[in-house]
Amino acid sequence: MLIKPVEDLLLRNADHYLIPADIVANVQTDNNLYHAFLVLTKIKYSKIPVLDHAGHFEGLVSLPLITEKMLGFDQLNTEILMECRVSEVMETNIKTVQQVDDVEATLHLMIDNPFVPVVDADGIFKGIITRREFMKSFNFLTHEIGKQYDMIEKDFSNS
Ligand code: AMP
Repeated sequence: MLIKPVEDLLLRNADHYLIPADIVANVQTDNNLYHAFLVLTKIKYSKIPVLDHAGHFEGLVSLPLITEKMLGFDQLNTEILMECRVSEVMETNIKTVQQVDDVEATLHLMIDNPFVPVVDADGIFKGIITRREFMKSFNFLTHEIGKQYDMIEKDFSNS
């Protein structure tokens, strides 16, 4: 469990963590790999969400997943980009959070992931929380905690 002052200060900025779904670049499960390849190359993010037509979160796709599919015996097979769908290469079983104020779960997931998808109870994709946005809040916390709470150093020298 997070200690109260840390949780309070992190929650104060929780609304700013979310990059809303409508400005998160994404592809759809039935897009071909050529489309996904172009999107990933243009936006320069290494990994983006995959959605279905109703806006449900289905997984993540990255350039390495696509290029691996293109690997033939001695050369890259570019034709496969038109033939295969995103659903054939995407990562599934991605850990998500339901709300931006689920700070503790987000913090744990961010240890291994540059962003955490926010997906509601119906499976609808609401956006992402990035490490960058979270670190801004952590920076705020490190400067503010001493101003807003009395911090007393405990003496463990005799214990
Ligand atoms: P950042 O912390 O801003 O570098 O973002 C970390 C990761 O989150 C990026 O590498 C992308 O995989 C993902 N990301 C951030 N912003 C967007 C966005 N607007 N659309 C899609 N993916 C994003």
